[in-house]
Amino acid sequence: MPNVLFTNVRIIDGSGTPPYSGEVLVQGNRIARVAKGVRAIATAGITVIDAAGATLMPGMTEAHTHFAWNDQPGLNAIQRMPPEEHILWCAHIAERYLDMGWTSCVGAAPAKARLDVVIRNAIASGQIKGPRYLAASQEITVPGGLADETLPHLPFPEFSFGVVVSGVEEMRAAVRRFLKYGVDAIKLNLSGEYIAGIPAEFTPMTDAEVAVAVEEAKLRGKRVQAHARSCESIKQCLRHGIDVIYHASFTDEEALDMLEAAKDRIFVAPGLAWLVKTSYHASQWGLTPEVTARMGYHRELEMAIESLKKMHKRGVRILPGGDYGFAWIPHGSNATDLEYFVKYLGFTPMEAIVAATKLGGQIMMQPDELGLVKEGYLADLLLVDGDPLANITLLQDKARILAVMKDGTFHRQPDVRSARSVMPASVA
Ligand SMILES: [Zn+2]
Repeated sequence: MPNVLFTNVRIIDGSGTPPYSGEVLVQGNRIARVAKGVRAIATAGITVIDAAGATLMPGMTEAHTHFAWNDQPGLNAIQRMPPEEHILWCAHIAERYLDMGWTSCVGAAPAKARLDVVIRNAIASGQIKGPRYLAASQEITVPGGLADETLPHLPFPEFSFGVVVSGVEEMRAAVRRFLKYGVDAIKLNLSGEYIAGIPAEFTPMTDAEVAVAVEEAKLRGKRVQAHARSCESIKQCLRHGIDVIYHASFTDEEALDMLEAAKDRIFVAPGLAWLVKTSYHASQWGLTPEVTARMGYHRELEMAIESLKKMHKRGVRILPGGDYGFAWIPHGSNATDLEYFVKYLGFTPMEAIVAATKLGGQIMMQPDELGLVKEGYLADLLLVDGDPLANITLLQDKARILAVMKDGTFHRQPDVRSARSVMPASVA
Protein backbone atom coordinates (compact mmCIF):
# COMPACT_ATOMS: atom_id res chain seq x y z
CA MET A 1 0.00 0.00 0.00
CA PRO A 2 1.73 3.22 -1.13
CA ASN A 3 1.78 6.19 1.18
CA VAL A 4 -0.29 9.08 -0.13
CA LEU A 5 -0.02 12.78 0.55
CA PHE A 6 -2.99 14.96 -0.25
CA THR A 7 -1.63 18.46 -0.66
CA ASN A 8 -3.34 21.74 -1.45
CA VAL A 9 -6.61 20.50 0.02
CA ARG A 10 -9.27 22.37 1.94
CA ILE A 11 -9.95 20.12 4.89
CA ILE A 12 -13.39 19.63 6.41
CA ASP A 13 -12.32 17.33 9.21
CA GLY A 14 -15.79 16.19 10.28
CA SER A 15 -15.59 17.60 13.81
CA GLY A 16 -17.47 20.77 12.98
CA THR A 17 -14.46 23.08 13.17
CA PRO A 18 -14.18 25.49 10.22
CA PRO A 19 -12.34 24.20 7.15
CA TYR A 20 -8.70 25.02 6.64
CA SER A 21 -6.09 24.59 3.91
CA GLY A 22 -3.55 21.93 4.50
CA GLU A 23 -2.11 18.51 3.80
CA VAL A 24 -3.00 15.01 4.89
CA LEU A 25 -0.57 12.11 4.87
CA VAL A 26 -1.91 8.56 4.68
CA GLN A 27 0.37 5.71 5.70
CA GLY A 28 -0.99 2.20 5.40
CA ASN A 29 -4.67 2.35 6.31
CA ARG A 30 -4.40 5.30 8.70
CA ILE A 31 -4.11 9.05 8.62
CA ALA A 32 -0.54 9.62 9.79
CA ARG A 33 -0.35 13.40 9.69
CA VAL A 34 -2.61 16.38 9.24
CA ALA A 35 -0.87 19.72 8.72
CA LYS A 36 -2.05 23.26 8.13
CA GLY A 37 -0.54 25.10 5.17
CA VAL A 38 1.34 23.64 2.24
CA ARG A 39 4.66 21.86 1.96
CA ALA A 40 4.68 21.11 5.65
CA ILE A 41 5.09 17.37 5.11
CA ALA A 42 8.13 15.90 3.32
CA THR A 43 7.19 14.12 0.09
CA ALA A 44 10.07 11.69 -0.38
CA GLY A 45 8.84 8.29 -1.51
CA ILE A 46 5.18 9.25 -1.41
CA THR A 47 2.45 9.55 -4.01
CA VAL A 48 1.49 13.21 -3.96
CA ILE A 49 -1.99 14.27 -4.92
CA ASP A 50 -2.08 18.01 -5.55
CA ALA A 51 -5.79 18.61 -5.29
CA ALA A 52 -5.70 22.25 -6.37
CA GLY A 53 -7.92 23.39 -3.52
CA ALA A 54 -10.48 20.58 -3.64
CA THR A 55 -12.20 19.60 -0.40
CA LEU A 56 -10.90 16.65 1.59
CA MET A 57 -13.41 15.23 4.06
CA PRO A 58 -14.10 11.95 5.86
CA GLY A 59 -16.01 9.20 4.08
CA MET A 60 -19.71 9.25 4.92
CA THR A 61 -21.79 6.76 6.92
CA GLU A 62 -25.28 5.69 5.88
CA ALA A 63 -27.13 4.93 9.10
CA HIS A 64 -30.06 2.90 7.72
CA THR A 65 -29.14 0.83 4.67
CA HIS A 66 -31.04 -1.88 2.85
CA PHE A 67 -28.83 -3.21 0.04
CA ALA A 68 -31.60 -5.76 -0.62
CA TRP A 69 -34.17 -3.16 -1.68
CA ASN A 70 -33.99 -3.33 -5.45
CA ASP A 71 -34.79 0.15 -6.82
CA GLN A 72 -38.29 -0.96 -7.85
CA PRO A 73 -41.61 0.78 -7.21
CA GLY A 74 -42.81 -1.43 -4.37
CA LEU A 75 -42.24 -4.13 -1.79
CA ASN A 76 -43.35 -7.07 -3.92
CA ALA A 77 -40.33 -6.79 -6.21
CA ILE A 78 -38.09 -7.28 -3.20
CA GLN A 79 -39.91 -10.41 -2.12
CA ARG A 80 -40.12 -11.89 -5.60
CA MET A 81 -36.38 -11.72 -6.23
CA PRO A 82 -34.89 -15.21 -5.79
CA PRO A 83 -31.94 -15.54 -3.41
CA GLU A 84 -29.35 -16.12 -6.14
CA GLU A 85 -30.21 -12.89 -7.96
CA HIS A 86 -30.61 -11.13 -4.66
CA ILE A 87 -27.10 -11.76 -3.42
CA LEU A 88 -25.65 -10.53 -6.72
CA TRP A 89 -27.83 -7.42 -6.50
CA CYS A 90 -26.60 -6.68 -2.98
CA ALA A 91 -22.97 -7.04 -4.05
CA HIS A 92 -23.58 -4.70 -6.98
CA ILE A 93 -25.29 -2.13 -4.75
CA ALA A 94 -22.63 -2.29 -2.05
CA GLU A 95 -20.12 -1.06 -4.62
CA ARG A 96 -22.46 1.73 -5.67
CA TYR A 97 -22.44 3.08 -2.10
CA LEU A 98 -18.67 3.19 -2.10
CA ASP A 99 -18.67 4.90 -5.52
CA MET A 100 -20.84 7.64 -4.03
CA GLY A 101 -18.63 8.25 -1.00
CA TRP A 102 -20.42 6.11 1.57
CA THR A 103 -17.47 4.31 3.13
CA SER A 104 -19.57 2.91 5.98
CA CYS A 105 -23.14 1.64 6.17
CA VAL A 106 -25.30 0.39 9.00
CA GLY A 107 -27.43 -2.47 7.71
CA ALA A 108 -31.06 -1.96 8.64
CA ALA A 109 -32.37 -5.38 7.55
CA PRO A 110 -31.96 -7.54 4.49
CA ALA A 111 -34.94 -9.14 2.76
CA LYS A 112 -33.67 -12.68 3.28
CA ALA A 113 -32.17 -14.21 6.37
CA ARG A 114 -28.43 -14.21 5.70
CA LEU A 115 -27.98 -11.60 2.96
CA ASP A 116 -26.53 -8.93 5.24
CA VAL A 117 -24.11 -11.27 7.00
CA VAL A 118 -22.82 -12.76 3.75
CA ILE A 119 -22.32 -9.33 2.14
CA ARG A 120 -20.57 -7.97 5.25
CA ASN A 121 -18.20 -10.93 5.29
CA ALA A 122 -17.53 -10.72 1.55
CA ILE A 123 -16.66 -7.02 1.83
CA ALA A 124 -14.47 -7.58 4.88
CA SER A 125 -12.54 -10.37 3.16
CA GLY A 126 -12.05 -8.35 -0.05
CA GLN A 127 -14.16 -10.71 -2.15
CA ILE A 128 -16.42 -7.85 -3.22
CA LYS A 129 -16.16 -4.07 -3.03
CA GLY A 130 -18.29 -2.16 -0.58
CA PRO A 131 -18.39 0.04 2.49
CA ARG A 132 -17.55 -1.03 6.01
CA TYR A 133 -20.75 -2.74 6.99
CA LEU A 134 -22.73 -3.79 10.04
CA ALA A 135 -25.11 -6.66 9.29
CA ALA A 136 -28.66 -6.73 10.56
CA SER A 137 -31.22 -9.46 11.01
CA GLN A 138 -34.31 -9.50 8.86
CA GLU A 139 -37.08 -7.30 10.17
CA ILE A 140 -38.78 -9.16 12.98
CA THR A 141 -42.48 -8.45 13.18
CA VAL A 142 -45.76 -9.86 14.52
CA PRO A 143 -48.79 -11.05 12.52
CA GLY A 144 -50.34 -8.04 10.82
CA GLY A 145 -47.26 -5.91 11.45
CA LEU A 146 -44.96 -4.29 8.90
CA ALA A 147 -43.07 -6.98 6.93
CA ASP A 148 -45.71 -9.66 7.45
CA GLU A 149 -46.74 -10.10 3.83
CA THR A 150 -48.31 -13.54 4.13
CA LEU A 151 -51.78 -14.02 2.68
CA PRO A 152 -54.57 -15.98 4.37
CA HIS A 153 -54.69 -18.58 1.58
CA LEU A 154 -50.93 -18.59 0.86
CA PRO A 155 -49.28 -18.51 4.24
CA PHE A 156 -45.72 -19.06 2.95
CA PRO A 157 -43.55 -17.26 5.50
CA GLU A 158 -40.58 -17.17 3.10
CA PHE A 159 -42.38 -14.66 0.87
CA SER A 160 -42.36 -11.90 3.48
CA PHE A 161 -39.32 -9.68 3.69
CA GLY A 162 -39.66 -9.96 7.45
CA VAL A 163 -39.84 -12.81 9.94
CA VAL A 164 -43.17 -13.14 11.71
CA VAL A 165 -43.22 -14.16 15.37
CA SER A 166 -45.98 -14.37 17.91
CA GLY A 167 -45.23 -14.32 21.61
CA VAL A 168 -42.12 -14.26 23.73
CA GLU A 169 -40.72 -17.69 22.92
CA GLU A 170 -41.05 -17.30 19.15
CA MET A 171 -39.32 -13.96 19.46
CA ARG A 172 -36.52 -15.53 21.49
CA ALA A 173 -36.07 -18.28 18.93
CA ALA A 174 -35.94 -15.85 15.99
CA VAL A 175 -33.43 -13.56 17.72
CA ARG A 176 -31.22 -16.48 18.70
CA ARG A 177 -31.28 -17.80 15.13
CA PHE A 178 -30.11 -14.47 13.72
CA LEU A 179 -27.42 -14.18 16.39
CA LYS A 180 -26.25 -17.63 15.37
CA TYR A 181 -25.99 -16.40 11.78
CA GLY A 182 -23.64 -13.69 13.01
CA VAL A 183 -25.61 -10.44 12.73
CA ASP A 184 -24.31 -7.27 14.37
CA ALA A 185 -27.82 -6.10 15.22
CA ILE A 186 -31.39 -7.30 15.60
CA LYS A 187 -34.05 -5.31 13.76
CA LEU A 188 -37.56 -5.02 15.18
CA ASN A 189 -40.57 -3.46 13.46
CA LEU A 190 -42.35 -1.62 16.25
CA SER A 191 -44.69 0.50 14.15
CA GLY A 192 -46.52 0.46 10.84
CA GLU A 193 -45.72 2.01 7.46
CA TYR A 194 -48.35 3.46 5.12
CA ILE A 195 -46.95 1.99 1.91
CA ALA A 196 -47.47 -1.48 3.37
CA GLY A 197 -51.05 -0.56 4.20
CA ILE A 198 -50.33 -0.30 7.92
CA PRO A 199 -50.73 3.05 9.69
CA ALA A 200 -47.49 4.59 10.93
CA GLU A 201 -49.05 5.09 14.34
CA PHE A 202 -49.93 1.43 14.80
CA THR A 203 -47.73 -0.13 17.52
CA PRO A 204 -48.33 -3.88 17.38
CA MET A 205 -45.57 -5.51 19.45
CA THR A 206 -45.99 -6.21 23.15
CA ASP A 207 -43.48 -4.95 25.71
CA ALA A 208 -42.81 -8.56 26.68
CA GLU A 209 -41.80 -9.40 23.08
CA VAL A 210 -39.57 -6.34 22.80
CA ALA A 211 -37.98 -7.07 26.16
CA VAL A 212 -36.99 -10.61 25.26
CA ALA A 213 -35.48 -9.52 21.95
CA VAL A 214 -33.33 -6.94 23.71
CA GLU A 215 -32.43 -9.41 26.46
CA GLU A 216 -31.15 -11.99 23.98
CA ALA A 217 -29.25 -9.45 21.87
CA LYS A 218 -27.57 -7.82 24.86
CA LEU A 219 -26.63 -11.20 26.27
CA ARG A 220 -24.31 -11.54 23.28
CA GLY A 221 -23.25 -7.89 23.22
CA LYS A 222 -25.31 -7.08 20.14
CA ARG A 223 -27.37 -4.02 19.37
CA VAL A 224 -31.09 -3.69 18.66
CA GLN A 225 -32.49 -1.28 16.09
CA ALA A 226 -36.13 -0.53 15.45
CA HIS A 227 -38.49 0.76 12.81
CA ALA A 228 -40.36 3.14 15.11
CA ARG A 229 -42.59 5.79 13.58
CA SER A 230 -45.30 5.99 16.24
CA CYS A 231 -44.87 7.87 19.49
CA GLU A 232 -45.57 4.73 21.50
CA SER A 233 -42.97 2.72 19.57
CA ILE A 234 -40.32 5.39 20.25
CA LYS A 235 -41.11 5.08 23.94
CA GLN A 236 -40.80 1.28 23.66
CA CYS A 237 -37.31 1.77 22.23
CA LEU A 238 -36.34 3.99 25.13
CA ARG A 239 -37.94 1.85 27.81
CA HIS A 240 -36.14 -1.27 26.59
CA GLY A 241 -32.68 0.07 25.77
CA ILE A 242 -32.89 -0.02 21.97
CA ASP A 243 -29.99 2.06 20.67
CA VAL A 244 -30.84 2.76 17.03
CA ILE A 245 -34.23 4.35 16.41
CA TYR A 246 -35.36 4.58 12.80
CA HIS A 247 -37.85 7.27 11.73
CA ALA A 248 -39.08 8.64 15.10
CA SER A 249 -41.77 10.73 13.39
CA PHE A 250 -44.43 11.13 16.05
CA THR A 251 -43.43 12.50 19.44
CA ASP A 252 -44.95 14.13 22.48
CA GLU A 253 -43.25 15.94 25.35
CA GLU A 254 -42.68 12.69 27.23
CA ALA A 255 -41.06 11.01 24.19
CA LEU A 256 -38.83 14.04 23.61
CA ASP A 257 -37.76 14.08 27.26
CA MET A 258 -36.97 10.35 27.08
CA LEU A 259 -34.99 10.83 23.84
CA GLU A 260 -33.01 13.69 25.36
CA ALA A 261 -32.27 11.74 28.54
CA ALA A 262 -30.79 8.94 26.40
CA LYS A 263 -29.01 11.18 23.87
CA ASP A 264 -25.53 9.87 24.60
CA ARG A 265 -26.67 6.29 23.98
CA ILE A 266 -29.17 6.47 21.12
CA PHE A 267 -29.03 7.34 17.44
CA VAL A 268 -31.98 8.52 15.37
CA ALA A 269 -31.92 7.93 11.62
CA PRO A 270 -35.21 9.31 10.31
CA GLY A 271 -34.99 8.47 6.62
CA LEU A 272 -36.21 11.97 5.87
CA ALA A 273 -35.77 11.77 2.10
CA TRP A 274 -37.98 8.68 2.02
CA LEU A 275 -40.86 10.71 3.51
CA VAL A 276 -40.29 13.70 1.21
CA LYS A 277 -39.77 11.71 -1.98
CA THR A 278 -42.61 9.29 -1.33
CA SER A 279 -44.95 12.19 -0.52
CA TYR A 280 -44.12 14.45 -3.45
CA HIS A 281 -41.82 12.83 -6.02
CA ALA A 282 -43.32 9.43 -6.83
CA SER A 283 -46.18 10.36 -9.16
CA GLN A 284 -44.59 8.47 -12.04
CA TRP A 285 -45.22 5.27 -10.11
CA GLY A 286 -48.83 6.02 -9.21
CA LEU A 287 -48.03 7.64 -5.89
CA THR A 288 -49.35 11.09 -6.75
CA PRO A 289 -49.44 13.70 -3.99
CA GLU A 290 -53.21 13.12 -3.77
CA VAL A 291 -52.61 9.42 -3.15
CA THR A 292 -49.78 9.88 -0.67
CA ALA A 293 -51.73 12.55 1.22
CA ARG A 294 -54.58 10.07 1.59
CA MET A 295 -52.17 7.36 2.70
CA GLY A 296 -50.96 9.62 5.51
CA TYR A 297 -47.45 10.49 4.35
CA HIS A 298 -47.97 14.26 4.16
CA ARG A 299 -49.17 14.48 7.73
CA GLU A 300 -46.36 12.21 8.88
CA LEU A 301 -43.78 14.35 7.09
CA GLU A 302 -45.09 17.46 8.84
CA MET A 303 -45.03 15.75 12.22
CA ALA A 304 -41.57 14.29 11.59
CA ILE A 305 -40.10 17.67 10.67
CA GLU A 306 -41.44 19.16 13.90
CA SER A 307 -40.23 16.21 15.99
CA LEU A 308 -36.77 16.14 14.43
CA LYS A 309 -36.25 19.89 14.80
CA LYS A 310 -37.02 19.56 18.50
CA MET A 311 -34.69 16.54 18.86
CA HIS A 312 -31.92 18.44 17.08
CA LYS A 313 -32.31 21.36 19.51
CA ARG A 314 -32.11 18.93 22.42
CA GLY A 315 -28.85 17.45 21.17
CA VAL A 316 -30.17 14.07 20.01
CA ARG A 317 -27.88 12.57 17.37
CA ILE A 318 -29.71 12.54 14.01
CA LEU A 319 -27.99 10.75 11.14
CA PRO A 320 -28.57 10.65 7.38
CA GLY A 321 -29.77 7.65 5.44
CA GLY A 322 -32.77 5.45 5.33
CA ASP A 323 -34.83 3.30 3.01
CA TYR A 324 -33.08 4.16 -0.24
CA GLY A 325 -33.65 1.45 -2.82
CA PHE A 326 -37.04 2.28 -4.31
CA ALA A 327 -37.66 3.63 -7.82
CA TRP A 328 -38.23 7.19 -6.59
CA ILE A 329 -35.35 7.08 -4.10
CA PRO A 330 -32.68 4.87 -5.69
CA HIS A 331 -29.52 3.62 -4.04
CA GLY A 332 -26.66 6.06 -4.44
CA SER A 333 -28.74 9.21 -4.08
CA ASN A 334 -28.42 8.99 -0.29
CA ALA A 335 -26.78 12.38 0.19
CA THR A 336 -30.23 13.83 -0.50
CA ASP A 337 -30.69 13.34 3.23
CA LEU A 338 -27.96 15.92 3.94
CA GLU A 339 -29.66 18.41 1.64
CA TYR A 340 -33.00 17.80 3.37
CA PHE A 341 -31.49 18.09 6.86
CA VAL A 342 -30.50 21.61 5.83
CA LYS A 343 -33.70 22.40 3.93
CA TYR A 344 -36.29 20.96 6.32
CA LEU A 345 -34.65 20.61 9.74
CA GLY A 346 -32.59 23.79 9.89
CA PHE A 347 -29.20 22.05 10.08
CA THR A 348 -26.24 24.11 8.92
CA PRO A 349 -24.40 22.38 6.07
CA MET A 350 -21.58 21.77 8.55
CA GLU A 351 -23.98 20.05 10.96
CA ALA A 352 -25.22 17.84 8.13
CA ILE A 353 -21.64 16.85 7.29
CA VAL A 354 -20.83 16.17 10.95
CA ALA A 355 -23.92 13.93 11.10
CA ALA A 356 -22.64 11.95 8.11
CA THR A 357 -19.05 11.68 9.32
CA LYS A 358 -18.26 12.10 13.01
CA LEU A 359 -21.62 10.68 14.13
CA GLY A 360 -21.15 7.99 11.50
CA GLY A 361 -18.01 6.80 13.26
CA GLN A 362 -20.03 6.68 16.47
CA ILE A 363 -22.93 4.64 15.08
CA MET A 364 -20.36 2.29 13.49
CA MET A 365 -19.09 1.74 17.06
CA GLN A 366 -15.63 3.06 16.13
CA PRO A 367 -15.82 6.60 17.56
CA ASP A 368 -12.11 6.84 18.28
CA GLU A 369 -10.87 5.86 14.83
CA LEU A 370 -13.57 6.51 12.24
CA GLY A 371 -15.37 9.55 10.89
CA LEU A 372 -12.78 12.31 11.21
CA VAL A 373 -9.77 13.60 9.30
CA LYS A 374 -7.51 13.25 12.28
CA GLU A 375 -4.12 11.73 12.97
CA GLY A 376 -4.42 8.05 13.88
CA TYR A 377 -7.89 7.68 12.35
CA LEU A 378 -8.69 5.18 9.60
CA ALA A 379 -8.08 6.64 6.15
CA ASP A 380 -11.64 6.78 4.79
CA LEU A 381 -11.52 9.97 2.75
CA LEU A 382 -13.36 11.81 0.01
CA LEU A 383 -11.95 14.39 -2.35
CA VAL A 384 -14.75 16.71 -3.46
CA ASP A 385 -14.65 19.19 -6.31
CA GLY A 386 -15.98 22.39 -4.77
CA ASP A 387 -17.28 23.39 -1.36
CA PRO A 388 -20.05 21.23 0.08
CA LEU A 389 -20.58 23.86 2.78
CA ALA A 390 -21.62 26.30 0.05
CA ASN A 391 -23.56 23.67 -1.87
CA ILE A 392 -24.44 20.53 0.06
CA THR A 393 -25.93 18.90 -3.06
CA LEU A 394 -22.40 18.42 -4.44
CA LEU A 395 -22.29 15.25 -2.37
CA GLN A 396 -25.06 13.75 -4.53
CA ASP A 397 -23.03 14.17 -7.71
CA LYS A 398 -20.65 11.35 -8.55
CA ALA A 399 -18.72 13.57 -10.95
CA ARG A 400 -17.96 16.01 -8.12
CA ILE A 401 -16.68 13.26 -5.82
CA LEU A 402 -13.22 13.13 -7.34
CA ALA A 403 -11.85 10.30 -5.23
CA VAL A 404 -12.96 7.78 -2.64
CA MET A 405 -10.44 6.18 -0.30
CA LYS A 406 -11.41 3.42 2.11
CA ASP A 407 -8.99 1.98 4.62
CA GLY A 408 -6.04 3.72 2.96
CA THR A 409 -6.77 2.33 -0.51
CA PHE A 410 -8.31 4.25 -3.38
CA HIS A 411 -11.62 2.80 -4.44
CA ARG A 412 -11.83 5.61 -6.97
CA GLN A 413 -8.52 7.20 -7.95
CA PRO A 414 -8.43 10.97 -8.28
CA ASP A 415 -8.04 12.13 -11.85
CA VAL A 416 -5.94 15.04 -10.69
CA ARG A 417 -3.56 16.15 -13.37
CA SER A 418 -0.65 16.87 -11.07
CA ALA A 419 -0.88 13.56 -9.21
CA ARG A 420 2.54 12.05 -9.40
CA SER A 421 4.88 9.66 -7.73
CA VAL A 422 7.87 11.32 -6.18
CA MET A 423 10.77 8.97 -5.70
CA PRO A 424 13.42 9.69 -3.07
CA ALA A 425 16.10 10.16 -5.77
CA SER A 426 14.18 13.00 -7.36
CA VAL A 427 13.99 15.02 -4.18
CA ALA A 428 16.66 17.70 -4.04
ZN1 LIG B 1 -35.87 0.80 6.72
